Amino acid sequence: MQERIFLSPPHMCGIEEKFVSDAFASNWIAPLGPFVDRFEQELGAYLSDHAVCALASGTSALHLGLLTLGIQKDDRVYCSDFTFSASCNIIRYCSAEPVFIDSEKDSWQMDPSLLEEKLAQDAKAGKLPKAVVVVDLYGISADFARIQPICAKYDIPILEDSAEALGSTRDGRQCGTFGKVSGFSFNGNKIITTSGGGALVSADRDIVQKARYLATQAREKRPYYHHITIGYNYRLSNLLAAVGCGQMTVLKDRIAKRRAIFDRYVEQLGNIEGISFMPEPKGACSNKWLTVMNIDPKVFKKNPEDLRQAMETDNIETRWAWKPMHMQPIFEPCECIGGSVCEDIFNKSLCLPSGSSLTEDQQTRVCEAIRKHLLS
Ligand SMILES: *Cc1c(COP(=O)(O)O)cnc(C)c1O
Repeated sequence: MQERIFLSPPHMCGIEEKFVSDAFASNWIAPLGPFVDRFEQELGAYLSDHAVCALASGTSALHLGLLTLGIQKDDRVYCSDFTFSASCNIIRYCSAEPVFIDSEKDSWQMDPSLLEEKLAQDAKAGKLPKAVVVVDLYGISADFARIQPICAKYDIPILEDSAEALGSTRDGRQCGTFGKVSGFSFNGNKIITTSGGGALVSADRDIVQKARYLATQAREKRPYYHHITIGYNYRLSNLLAAVGCGQMTVLKDRIAKRRAIFDRYVEQLGNIEGISFMPEPKGACSNKWLTVMNIDPKVFKKNPEDLRQAMETDNIETRWAWKPMHMQPIFEPCECIGGSVCEDIFNKSLCLPSGSSLTEDQQTRVCEAIRKHLLS
């Protein structure tokens, strides 16, 4: 059996280990510590001087994002339909009601026209949502040039789920700086990782300060434990922030690598009839977190699951694209606007090995396996 090729494994550069040793040497094991401050500063500087709170996960960042926007029980919150469940689990954490918005065919991102129509109806009916969770899917920025003014018209804040999109831009602007508040993930499979971690980001320092307070058990500044609100234990440990500081030194390289991997897939497979790749809209520059391939069922007898299983026989990990939220049993009772666009993409898509440590030889192996299994 040949060596296994993973979808998107962690990729350390070596400096992380030194930073973790430094943290040990200084005994800044917990709680928080200088690497947390440094990680927040470096990330903030990278994101056009936004304020940053480093957290235990992307999910906790997004949850605090909704809390800082004041989301409460029974509020309605809109969310991209085509995403990972964490984007909308957080709505349920707040006992609020998710409503899903389908994708646009050309970009796979939230469809601004559907959102616009829905909000116009809501305004008439007097039941506007309290926030919209907009996902930058697979590292590609949503169409904020259209979504921002639509939401601004009704004064609805945007929570940007940039978990997959660190380093991506749209019209020169960084993903994670479009929302009133945004969340990033440093989970093991993301473009850079702290093994597990996340960050809440905002241009509004008060929001970030409030998130920091909630994430630290809502401890009041008093000599004894005094609580006036429900808090959470969501902060990132100094050891993991040390890993993050190491990873920040190679973020540029990691993006360049994943973009090159995408380009090579297009080069090696893009001319096969029936194969296409997730489009990158004009003005968007994606970090290409994952390369997502579409296989046309009219051309191939194999569907994504057939191909996934065949690739396993070559010890290559591929994965289904996110299953849309309206298709999830847990969210079945929720309202969904449209849904057929992302359902169609889901039924045709497979995520290919895209980790920045993937070698050219390994990628050739992946492409040869795809050709073998699809064309035979
Ligand atoms: C990974 C991911 C999250 C969750 O981040 P964690 O760090 O795993 O909690 C949220 N939303 C999207 C779109 C993601 O891909």
